[in-house]
Amino acid sequence: LEVPVSLNVNENTHRVPLEVAEDIIERLAKSLMSINRYPDREFMPLREALANYLGAGLKPENIWAANGSNEVLQHIFQAFGGPGRKFLSFTPTYSMYPIIASGTQTEYVAVSRADRFELTPELIRAAIFEHKPNIVILCNPNNPTGTPIGLDCIEAAYDALTEASGGILVVDEAYQEFGADQSVTAVSLLPGRERLLVSRTMSKAFAFAGARVGYLAADPAVIDALRLVRLPYHLSAFTQAAAEGALAHATVMLSTVDDIRAQRDRIVTELKLMGLDPYRSDANFVLFGGLSDPAKVWQQLLERGVLIRNVGLDDPAKVWQQLLDRGVLIRNVGLDGTLRVSAGTEAETSAFLQALREVLAN
Ligand SMILES: *Cc1c(COP(=O)(O)O)cnc(C)c1O
Repeated sequence: LEVPVSLNVNENTHRVPLEVAEDIIERLAKSLMSINRYPDREFMPLREALANYLGAGLKPENIWAANGSNEVLQHIFQAFGGPGRKFLSFTPTYSMYPIIASGTQTEYVAVSRADRFELTPELIRAAIFEHKPNIVILCNPNNPTGTPIGLDCIEAAYDALTEASGGILVVDEAYQEFGADQSVTAVSLLPGRERLLVSRTMSKAFAFAGARVGYLAADPAVIDALRLVRLPYHLSAFTQAAAEGALAHATVMLSTVDDIRAQRDRIVTELKLMGLDPYRSDANFVLFGGLSDPAKVWQQLLERGVLIRNVGLDDPAKVWQQLLDRGVLIRNVGLDGTLRVSAGTEAETSAFLQALREVLAN
């Protein structure tokens, strides 16, 4: 849908700053001059740049990258999932997980989150001991709810997995840079945990969704396993050049993060003033309830040029299951009357809040 204010898929709505764009164009031009050759299949300069960005003493051999973190996740399932293997996550969560799992015939176990979509070490531990999965993904902060978890939850998951099944733990930190405290990351837990994988993306905080660059930090043995399943030369020379350019200007590229965080907090404050029920979020979006008819509000916002997300559509596996359970086709299946909005620029956020006020006043 082409609308003036698109806040539906958690993109960073800011453009790449001009000074960075110029450098990236120069790098792309240079790589064009040797585009008749296959690219560096181990993409070492990019892995070096990603290791430097993450810090924590990581080396290029700790880093993997692919065309979006969706492809990184697919590599993980190709290497560690498959028929007879089991994958567990805590729902509602990112709708791509079950889709990627099914593509590798990995069994999917969905365990419900607690009240207000929160997780506790106890809940995580109990689920892992009950199901003994080979792969667990913790999305932190969680999409579509925004819910952050503490490092204690990640440590509990890792310890339980070690004891229960020897499985791997993936922490999906797609929105990590938007967190209240950016020093809180599962990357700090990597030393001594060789089955912990931390997934990141340049799609959100780096405002680089169209470039398709996701990456991962883990033990070098994990990276070697991923190298076995990727297709040769999976990262194009253009992708590598563009990502290296963006990372060379990481500070400028991330300069919009503070503003987006401020707009997110503004959305939470304003929604409460409207009598709505926003959930706690450490991401660049806010899930909110308190709506009796989210589908109608969604439609009325769209008529005002504002596109947000009806989260019922965000979790097709769950929707599919619910349809199957009932044997009927239901239209407005939502997460208990919720919608999800991404924090855009100040002007976009204002447009959303104004449109919502109008809709609620009707
Ligand atoms: C957006 C998102 C991703 C990133 O996808 P890319 O393929 O890197 O664009 C990964 N995980 C979650 C939870 C997301 O919301």
